[in-house]
Amino acid sequence: MDQSNTVLLERKEMPLDALRAQVRGSVYGLEDAGFDEVRQCWNLIVEQSPAVVVVAEGASDVQAAVDFARENGLKVSVQATGHGQPRNCQGGVLINTSRMSGLTIDVASQTARVGGGAKWIDVLNPAQEVGLAGPSGSSPYVGVVGYTLGGGYGHLLRKHGLAVDCVRSVQIVTADGQLRTASPTENADLFWALRGGGGGFGVVVEMEIALFPHAEVYGGAVLFPADRAEEVFPAYFDWTQDLPDEVTSQVCLINFPPVPFVPEPLRGKAFAMVTACICTDQATGEALMRPMRQVGPAIDTFGMMPFNETGRIANDPVDPLPAVGTGVMLKGLTSEAIPALLAAIGPMAQSANLKIELRHLGGAMGRVSHEETAIGCRREAEYLVYALGVPMGPVTPAMMEEQAERVFQALAPYVVCRGPLNFLGEGTVKGEAIRQVFGEADFQRLGEIKQALDPTNLFCNAGLGIAVTDAPR
Ligand SMILES: Cc1cc2nc3c(=O)[nH]c(=O)nc-3n(C[C@H](O)[C@H](O)[C@H](O)COP(=O)(O)OP(=O)(O)OC[C@H]3O[C@@H](n4cnc5c(N)ncnc54)[C@H](O)[C@@H]3O)c2cc1C
Repeated sequence: MDQSNTVLLERKEMPLDALRAQVRGSVYGLEDAGFDEVRQCWNLIVEQSPAVVVVAEGASDVQAAVDFARENGLKVSVQATGHGQPRNCQGGVLINTSRMSGLTIDVASQTARVGGGAKWIDVLNPAQEVGLAGPSGSSPYVGVVGYTLGGGYGHLLRKHGLAVDCVRSVQIVTADGQLRTASPTENADLFWALRGGGGGFGVVVEMEIALFPHAEVYGGAVLFPADRAEEVFPAYFDWTQDLPDEVTSQVCLINFPPVPFVPEPLRGKAFAMVTACICTDQATGEALMRPMRQVGPAIDTFGMMPFNETGRIANDPVDPLPAVGTGVMLKGLTSEAIPALLAAIGPMAQSANLKIELRHLGGAMGRVSHEETAIGCRREAEYLVYALGVPMGPVTPAMMEEQAERVFQALAPYVVCRGPLNFLGEGTVKGEAIRQVFGEADFQRLGEIKQALDPTNLFCNAGLGIAVTDAPR
């Protein structure tokens, strides 16, 4: 337990009993049993040391927690799953939204009202029952709201855009404790900021998002021994040059760790892997995948799958682990860049990062106008490269970052910016990178919206909402 928090609590004599009387959920002080469980992030690299954790049951609990923090001079952090890499909420109030996972689906309008703490799987399973899919990403255990506030780069990116493009309205508790609606017609500036600007504007208690009629998709992975990367990566790059929007895909080099949750044929081995989610029937999907299959994979998992099983495409880890990642967005990438990329990664057996991926962007994502959302002109990016590692044993975050920097340097002529926000990470690059991620005009606009709504910077610990923390004040 962090002693500074105890001191803070004693000094302030915080009326936790009064807060407990106000909320339906649970309030944990430093000495309470269960405190460690409710502050724990999925990402074990993140140490959260709040003074108080409020496990909220609904909007009024969130309002009480925000009022409490403001009145006691404490800062607020929000945590749904802890998949993000938030700043340490040291001595502050951590609002744990994980119990706010309510969901209402309107089949007629193909929309869902999603609670502020819901995970994607909480949406995808009920949506599947009515033949609908959501704009989820590689892991269905990531929080809908946190993922969406940072852009939301998912399986339907090229078909239907980013998750932010699917948001219809947002219910949010702001720093003054008020519950506000943000939509195209109400608080339109805030609505703009919430679609890509991260989590620093308040606590989202509900988000209305579009769903799509893809009960089944053609998806999976083709895996090649990592030493065939020189064939696989160029073939992938060529393949993505004229793909229809139905295909959202990535290629990566990956070291599958020697741990039990990794299936036997992959465990402890390195692969070049192409994964895709294809919104077509089987025959069309097979035809579209043919160029990659012709390269001759050792393992092929492609087939039709219900959309709520798309977590099987990338098989991201489900159980908590320490993860460190950072990325860049690219434009104008040419085939000449691919050997340079592979040379910078080096032999996978010696890679500090477990996975280095090249995601194909564009399609519907690229057709939304720059002004629509806080993603800004980064929509012009055609690919993103993301390096992800698990600092264990002799491997340190610094070693991962160093390798990632080498890769990014090799791609420098094509780099649009660091990021995107969901893939920026918490490394040393962060400060200036935030300006780059948004571009100067959006960065300034986000700062102004933040200033108007949260003049005392109550939400300064927002994990991916750094834009506002670092914005001019
Ligand atoms: C295994 C894995 C796979 C991923 N795959 C993808 C992917 O395919 N595409 C992609 O775009 N991203 C992906 N991400 C990144 C992920 O979207 C971000 O880390 C996101 O922030 C996680 O949100 P969360 O709510 O689960 O995490 P948390 O750590 O709980 O939250 C992260 C931050 O989001 C904000 N936030 C969360 N809930 C609220 C709320 N109710 N109100 C206000 N702010 C809130 C807060 O600032 C919080 O600090 C992945 C991450 C991991 C670890």
